[in-house]
Amino acid sequence: MEGPGVQLIKEKLSFLKGSFVFEVSGNSKIDKKKMLGKELLSVDSVGKQLFLIFEGVVLRVHFGMYGSFRINNPKPDKVPRLLLRFNKDGKKPVDLYFYNTSLRLVDPRELNLDNSVDVLSENFDREKALEKIKSDERVISDVLLDQEIFAGIGNIIKNEALFLAKVHPESISSKIPDDVARDLIDKSVYFSQVFLEHREKGWPLKKVLLVYNRKFCPLCDSKLKVKYVGRSHRKTFFCEKCQRLYV
Ligand SMILES: [Zn+2]
Repeated sequence: MEGPGVQLIKEKLSFLKGSFVFEVSGNSKIDKKKMLGKELLSVDSVGKQLFLIFEGVVLRVHFGMYGSFRINNPKPDKVPRLLLRFNKDGKKPVDLYFYNTSLRLVDPRELNLDNSVDVLSENFDREKALEKIKSDERVISDVLLDQEIFAGIGNIIKNEALFLAKVHPESISSKIPDDVARDLIDKSVYFSQVFLEHREKGWPLKKVLLVYNRKFCPLCDSKLKVKYVGRSHRKTFFCEKCQRLYV
């Protein structure tokens, strides 16, 4: 799941703020009881991670590729990783289920909610991102997927941002000129926002994808190249004519 998906989950769960956990279950090995009786103080996300912040303990949720959640509507015949049953103002309980997620309980004092690397945050630090690009010897494809630098960018956003900025995915990060790198950062933020908006409104994403899962370049009609690029080895679509290789 890409970052914007997690941002959206955060928004969907924020109504639970102020409610208390009165039942926990599920097959996760974390010490679930630590959340019992605790008030949910806030819900936050950084990149692809979701944080449920309780008094004294924080649940960190990583959705990976196949993670999901449900509210009051469990998947039949499937034991959730975690079920949290919330009580809000004595009204009907709200059941929150997590499936196929990676869960961890974190001490709130160790929690780092630094969102200056989160492309969807208003605190995203573009200058810091530029410095990272300029000092990295990896291919740009890997740098864009590095969650410590660009939290929230997944493979689809990477593909589209590289195309929009006309940068070849196998360019060496440090060799990309400043103005091009700046443009790439802007395009990454822009496309992440487009991605989020489409998810929020339930619009099909396919219409706005220029290269991902496409066959031909929308600019020059050449056949797009498909390659598993970099150490991350993720499927990458690009136009060899329109996207410049910096090495
Ligand atoms: Zn082209």
